[in-house]
Amino acid sequence: MTDNPYNSMLHQFERAAKLLGYNESDYKTLKYPERELKVSVPVKMDDGRIEVFTGYRIQHSTTRGPCKGGIRYHPDVSGNEVKALAAWMTWKCSLVNLPYGGAKGGIRCDPTKLSERELKKLTRRYTAAILPLIGPEKDIPAPDINTNAEVMGWVMDTYSMFQGYTVPGVVTGKPLQIGGAAGRLEATGRGVQFVVERFLKKIGRDLKDVTVAIQGFGNVGSVTANLLYNCGAKIVAVSDISGGKFCSSGLDISDILKYTEESKDNIKNYRNPDAVDISNAELLELDVDLLIPAAQESQITKENVNRIKAKYIVEAANGPITFEADKILEERNVPVIPDILANSGGVIVSYFEWVQNIQFLLWDEEYTNDMLEKIITRSFEEIWRLSEEKGVSFRVAAYMIAVSRVVEAKKIRGIFP
Ligand code: NAD
Repeated sequence: MTDNPYNSMLHQFERAAKLLGYNESDYKTLKYPERELKVSVPVKMDDGRIEVFTGYRIQHSTTRGPCKGGIRYHPDVSGNEVKALAAWMTWKCSLVNLPYGGAKGGIRCDPTKLSERELKKLTRRYTAAILPLIGPEKDIPAPDINTNAEVMGWVMDTYSMFQGYTVPGVVTGKPLQIGGAAGRLEATGRGVQFVVERFLKKIGRDLKDVTVAIQGFGNVGSVTANLLYNCGAKIVAVSDISGGKFCSSGLDISDILKYTEESKDNIKNYRNPDAVDISNAELLELDVDLLIPAAQESQITKENVNRIKAKYIVEAANGPITFEADKILEERNVPVIPDILANSGGVIVSYFEWVQNIQFLLWDEEYTNDMLEKIITRSFEEIWRLSEEKGVSFRVAAYMIAVSRVVEAKKIRGIFP
């Protein structure tokens, strides 16, 4: 069995299904995505050339409601990766009990090499290509790696142009001015913060006495770093794709954020006498209390897992630990808060955004954050209880809750026709 994201997902899901006592026929359909769309996306580039990009929208399950899941722009996007990410969305939405199924989309491209005009054309043409699948009652995209509120605005506008009227509920993570939710930008990082706080409280540790390393300094990593830093955590290392910085007495996260926001530069070029260079591989292997991978999947693998020294891991990214590495961490009793809980803040607040859009309501940020905390801590407590009751890891407990909700819904609905 190769160490790829879809196989990791299948392992996690089938293990939970078997522990729940299900027969294969109870869950067999969930081993396969319901729909896979692969599209060619032609773009006339600024220099007049025609470039053709490959895009995907994959819907894993609609059993519990319309599909939900982000759109990723990255050179490594593949059908296998999008398929795994789509299924993880099914489990995540089920775990936090949102009335959604799971989907994911992506375009294989390097957005750092595209002009804004090219990016806009790419997004609009991709949206047109996946039009038959998306819609507020069918499948609602959101941002993921290298896509942001602006890109979501283009998706919303393109969809609306085809409908002939404005449809804010087709996509979440939009700019506030066109129906975005207050607090959505920070939602995933804020959710990570709530989960970290709850976990540390349970094990009797104070955030102020904990050393933290965070891999990835994009939407999720930078917001998580900032929120934990503002609560007094000692963040000893952060990184992005260019590399990272380390300081044993704690980095000044507000200064790093100021630098990256103002200069639009990578962390590698940030200068501070106290902060030394560190590679992404070194960051993952630091002797810290808490490691937060917030970049990409498959960062902790069977190759480096034995060098991981962190006492606890909170998966802010999707699938940062491969199945094989996860097994080893489990044997070593390293607590891992799984991605489907840890980064669910994004989809929870996306759900709030969609609810407001389809009902023409407006919530304020305080109410949004309170509701986010309520939902994510409720799920954390469910996982904690089941993990203690069954003597299983947090991940296995999370999957048992998520899988049982989808399988039970499937049983009620039955197989068509
Ligand atoms: P982003 O594009 O805003 O940031 C990604 C960050 O990771 C950047 O700092 C980038 O430089 C860094 N990075 C990329 N490849 C790397 C590598 N190989 N090594 C080290 N750093 C690397 O993306 P994001 O939205 O912050 O997403 C990060 C992760 O969180 C992804 O796994 C994504 O699926 C997941 N996630 C995001 C959201 C959301 O709301 N944005 C919600 C749930 C889960």
